[in-house]
Amino acid sequence: MARAHVIETRGLTRRFGDVTAVDALDLTVERGEVVGLLGHNGAGKTTTVRLLNGVLAPSAGSARVLGFDPMHDGVALRRRCGVSTETPSVDERLSGRAGLRFFAEVFDVPPARVERRIDELLAAFDLSAAADQRVGTYSKGMRQRLTLARALLHEPELLFLDEPSSGLDPVAARAVDERIAGLRDAGTTVLLCTHNLAQAQGLCDRVVVLEHGAVVASGAPAALAAELGASIEVRVALRLEAGTDARALLADVVGVETIEAANGEANGLRFAASGDDATAAAVRVLVQAGADVYAVERRQPSLEDVYFALHRGERPAARADAPQGVPA
Ligand code: ATP
Repeated sequence: MARAHVIETRGLTRRFGDVTAVDALDLTVERGEVVGLLGHNGAGKTTTVRLLNGVLAPSAGSARVLGFDPMHDGVALRRRCGVSTETPSVDERLSGRAGLRFFAEVFDVPPARVERRIDELLAAFDLSAAADQRVGTYSKGMRQRLTLARALLHEPELLFLDEPSSGLDPVAARAVDERIAGLRDAGTTVLLCTHNLAQAQGLCDRVVVLEHGAVVASGAPAALAAELGASIEVRVALRLEAGTDARALLADVVGVETIEAANGEANGLRFAASGDDATAAAVRVLVQAGADVYAVERRQPSLEDVYFALHRGERPAARADAPQGVPA
C-alpha cells in the first residue's frame, strides 16, 4: 500500500441478514483529501464509516486506515481519528465541559493543554455559555456541536464526519463549514458523509457516490459534471421585436436545448447549452435577429445536477474510486 493512502479498502463488504449494506467497496483516500461520501438514505455511508472505525466487523474484504486494520487496532486508530456521528456521544449527566474533559483523557490530550483546547472548542462551536450545563438539557443542535468539538479535541489527522450539519441552524451550519475548510487548509484528511450537496461541492476535493453499498461515481464535482454531460443553464434578458419567436430562432443552434421563457417573463429566455461555444452561438443568433440583449447569465452544472443525473441512471465511464490524478 502506498504510504500516502490514509484509507484503502478492497472488496469491503458488510451484510445484515439479506441486506448488503456495503458491497465490495474499493475506496482510496489520500492524505489531505476531503472526500464526500454521498448517496440516498440507506446507501451504506454510515456503515462504511463504522467499518473504517472498527466499530463493525466486515463480512468480507479488507480495510487499512492510517496503516491500521480497524478491527484489530481499533483503539490505536481511534486515538488518531476524530469521529462525529449523529448519535449523541457525550454522557447526558455530565456538563459539556466535563464531557470534553473525559474524552480529552481518553484521547491522551496532554494535561497542560486540555483546558485551553476545551475553551477554544467551546467558543468555536458557540457553547461557552452552556459549558457548565448538563448535556441532557442541550438542544439537538447544541449536542451536534458538542459532538463535533469532541471529535476535534485531540487534533486528529483523520476526521470522519457523518452528517455534521444535521439539525444545525444556518449560522451554526456555516460555522461548521468554515471549520471544515480550515481543517482542510491545515492538511487534515476528512471523510464527510452528507446529504447537503452544496456543502459537499464547497468543501470536497472529490466525491464518492454510493448506491446499494457500491460506488456508482467518483471524482471532483466539476469533472463528474463534465463527464456526465451536465449542461450549462443560460438565462438571457432581452427584448425582441413583436412577433419574433425566440424558440424558433434557437431551434437549429447546435448544443442548445430546452428553450423556454425564464420565469414566464416576455423578456427572459432560458436554455440549456452544451458549452460556452453553444452559448455564444445562441447569443449571436438572437442579436442578428435584432434582439436587444441586456444580460447573459450562466450557471455551471452543480453537484446537484450530477446527483440527479446519477439518480436518473446516467453513469460516468470510470466508476471505480480513485484519488484525483491517480488512475483507477
Ligand atoms: P442515511 O443517509 O439514511 O443515514 P446510510 O447511507 O448511512 O443512510 P446505512 O445506515 O449505512 O446507510 O445503511 C445501509 C443499509 O444497511 C440500510 O439498508 C440499513 O437498513 C442497513 N443497516 C444498517 N445498519 C444496520 C443494522 N445494525 N442492522 C440491520 N441493518 C442495518
